[in-house]
Amino acid sequence: MKITIIGAGIGGLTTAIALKQNGFDVEIFESTSQFRKAGSGINLAINAMQIYKKLGVYDDILNAGSYTRSMIVTNQNLDVISKIDLVEAEKKYNAKTVAIHRTTLHEILLKKLGDTPIYLGKRLSNLKESENKVHLSFDDGTDYVSDIVLGADGIHSAVRKSILGNCELRIAKQVCWRGITKVNIDAKYQSELNEMWGSGKRFGFVHIDKETVYWFALANYKNDFKNEFKDVNLPDLFSGFNPIVSKIIGSTDKNDILTNEMIDLKPISSWSKGRICLLGDAAHATTPNLGQGACQAIESAFVLAKCLSDMDYSLAFKQYEKIRKQTAVEVVNTSWRLGKIAHIDNKLGIKLRNSLMKIVPQKMVQKQGTAMLGIDYL
Ligand SMILES: Cc1cc2nc3c(=O)[nH]c(=O)nc-3n(C[C@H](O)[C@H](O)[C@H](O)COP(=O)(O)OP(=O)(O)OC[C@H]3O[C@@H](n4cnc5c(N)ncnc54)[C@H](O)[C@@H]3O)c2cc1C
Repeated sequence: MKITIIGAGIGGLTTAIALKQNGFDVEIFESTSQFRKAGSGINLAINAMQIYKKLGVYDDILNAGSYTRSMIVTNQNLDVISKIDLVEAEKKYNAKTVAIHRTTLHEILLKKLGDTPIYLGKRLSNLKESENKVHLSFDDGTDYVSDIVLGADGIHSAVRKSILGNCELRIAKQVCWRGITKVNIDAKYQSELNEMWGSGKRFGFVHIDKETVYWFALANYKNDFKNEFKDVNLPDLFSGFNPIVSKIIGSTDKNDILTNEMIDLKPISSWSKGRICLLGDAAHATTPNLGQGACQAIESAFVLAKCLSDMDYSLAFKQYEKIRKQTAVEVVNTSWRLGKIAHIDNKLGIKLRNSLMKIVPQKMVQKQGTAMLGIDYL
């Protein structure tokens, strides 16, 4: 039985690796005609790294990336409001948190896949099921037939659209800029992810290797971020923040800064139909406030492959959804709420938020901050 994956992002590639390890014949169709160098990093939390250990790429990722020991929220002056120390969770789950260049992660996953066919420049337009087969049509006018199709084609998934119609994408009204730069900052930041919360905006940074820093900056907008931030000068926008922000942004090549608006997928009723199943952002896209979007995709990839190897596809899809949905939806909703809290833009609200966060007992901060790192199906 051949399994066709649509999309060669983190979700699609991880699914392919997991399926191959379970003995399946896999192929991937990807819309981009060549993999480009992504100008951003990604933080892989302990839950995802436990899966990557199972899939045999843990050491490669750890060696190529940068170990993150703690995650810290500060005010815009870099005074700590809340800190999650990950060491206990590392010991408990025997895995570390790693921040890594997205391109490097992609290369590691591709290498692990070896000679698995990946057809580039193949944008799926739609698919339908008939006579125990799935019929796929691509933008280039070609057609294809498969036994099972897994939609790992991201938040704007064509696979999802084909089986469920239009689903609601929620716009958080926050714009995000991301960059990567070689910059010399204090060595104490080497193993920390810091996120500074200001008024309606925030700035985060983390090392992705010894010399390289990945940063993200977000700001609220009213109606149209492209227009409202048309001529934005980021160091000026964040001038009220600790000077490390302008140092980091100022050292980044402007042409390499990525801009995205923050959106998620309102949880959907079902992740599969017949011989077609969704995973990753196609099924449970979240805003990135918990740094869990890809981590959830990685978990879904592993569980879906395991279920397919244990039972018939129709039962497997149901079992996969049963195992994964509750957590994935919780991440989507918690992340959405956290994004609103992080972007409060009035003085009193900010003062109240920061004071409340400071008085939460450390034990509770640790418990909440590490709640989603355990995996009970491994
Ligand atoms: C600003 C930001 C920061 C983030 N930070 C983190 C983080 O630190 N940690 C974390 O875990 N997550 C993070 N995420 C979330 C993470 O990036 C996503 O959840 C993850 O990339 C989803 O992977 P995916 O493979 O499901 O989808 P995608 O990465 O979107 O991959 C989909 C693939 O499908 C292809 N495709 C799309 N349509 C078609 C089609 N019709 N036919 C064929 N191919 C198609 C695309 O080209 C792409 O290669 C962040 C997201 C954002 C926006």
